Amino acid sequence: MSKQISRRQFLFGTGSLLALGYLSYLGLPGIIFPGNKIGAGQPGAPVDQSPPVLPPPVECDLVFRNGFIIDGSGEKGYTGSVGIKGQQVVAVGDFQVAPGAEEIDAGGLIICPGFIDIHTHTEQYLAAGGGAEMLLRQGVTTHLGGNCGTSVDRVGAFLDGIQKLAVNMGLLAGYKNLRKAAVAGEGRPARAGEVAVMQDRLAAALKEGAFGLSVGLEYWPQTLATTRELIDLCQVLKEYGGFYATHIRSESDAVLKAVEEALEIGHRAGVPVQYSHVKASFQRNWGKMKGILELLDGARRGGLDITADVYGYTFSSWDLGSTRNSISEDDLILALQHPAVMIGSDSGLDNRGLAVHPRAYGNYPRILYRYVYDKGVIPLEQAVHKMTAMPAQRMGLEDRGLLAPGYKADVVAFDPGSITDRATRANPNQPAAGVRWVLVNGRVAVKNGEPTGCYAGEVLRRS
Ligand SMILES: [Zn+2]
Repeated sequence: MSKQISRRQFLFGTGSLLALGYLSYLGLPGIIFPGNKIGAGQPGAPVDQSPPVLPPPVECDLVFRNGFIIDGSGEKGYTGSVGIKGQQVVAVGDFQVAPGAEEIDAGGLIICPGFIDIHTHTEQYLAAGGGAEMLLRQGVTTHLGGNCGTSVDRVGAFLDGIQKLAVNMGLLAGYKNLRKAAVAGEGRPARAGEVAVMQDRLAAALKEGAFGLSVGLEYWPQTLATTRELIDLCQVLKEYGGFYATHIRSESDAVLKAVEEALEIGHRAGVPVQYSHVKASFQRNWGKMKGILELLDGARRGGLDITADVYGYTFSSWDLGSTRNSISEDDLILALQHPAVMIGSDSGLDNRGLAVHPRAYGNYPRILYRYVYDKGVIPLEQAVHKMTAMPAQRMGLEDRGLLAPGYKADVVAFDPGSITDRATRANPNQPAAGVRWVLVNGRVAVKNGEPTGCYAGEVLRRS
């Protein structure tokens, strides 16, 4: 209870737009929030004696009424309704609903697109039929697996073999898998003929729907990959589409040099780059985030399409088993605030759905609670944008990541007064709190805070 009170004090105690949004959806009088249009019948509307011409009512299966809508675009939120028919969002805002729809009172809740996690290691768990309750309870509706160079050997066959999915899932091709097929067991860089084998394998994976190529250059034997070899592989991305997702060669002492290598690969191959779980590890490197972000800005000004992702914790998997926090929270906040950095979790789950790091169970509510509401370092609209439209754009998903008519109905409604993570380093498998409703492709996957057990996820393939 004390947490809720302090959060309200924060919201009411600042002049921020967050507070205005909070007041607006509480329905308090006398406040005109930028998203609230002055319409007929409201004070300030022009006097008009003729009967109003209303648009026809919208046919819906399900309607969320009177929530505070954050549509994923980064624009200011506003109070309104969201209508869903079949798998799609059909109306957003203020509209008439045809009789027969199921109505959900979303008063007091934030409604936004389902969260898209661009950096995960959960493909084996999800493909094995995992119920993904720990993801749904965070509002996560899409996972991109196969990161850090470790994916499946055959992307197409793996995706084809999936019987059911609790959330949507796509895959990257992994450098380690490509290398295994070409230079198995050899502790040396790949030779030209072997690079050609990897290129063929990568081309096949991309044609089968992989979203790009991932590497984990800090991990053996991926450490053996040369810059030249990675440029040669990225040229396949240039031909077939997809992005280069890089866990760079050093995340600590040599981090700036490692960022420069990633930029060089992107520039020389001419491909989009996703810089995975951006960080500067160990206290002696704290403060380097500023330089990392300046390198990104410079590359973007130079025409490189590079974005990054970050998770909401100051300890990495290397720190587990100790009490060390190898990441500076100031650095983490700088990354969170940067316009080219989106949210990703780096979560892994074993086939029972257990995690060793709390991010698999808590990342998204943690960002919302700790960094939006508690510390106030990033506006809610921006945080949601970084969880939805930004990763959708990087993946090329044209019908997800926004709440707008025609988009797939991946929808989350959460309570801003109780959204929080509960997973900790000592107890990483505690589900998050505060997510009340989740739709996956129009089907109710969380109802009144409880997962329903439905499998409404789809296999996503890059088109
Ligand atoms: Zn990684």
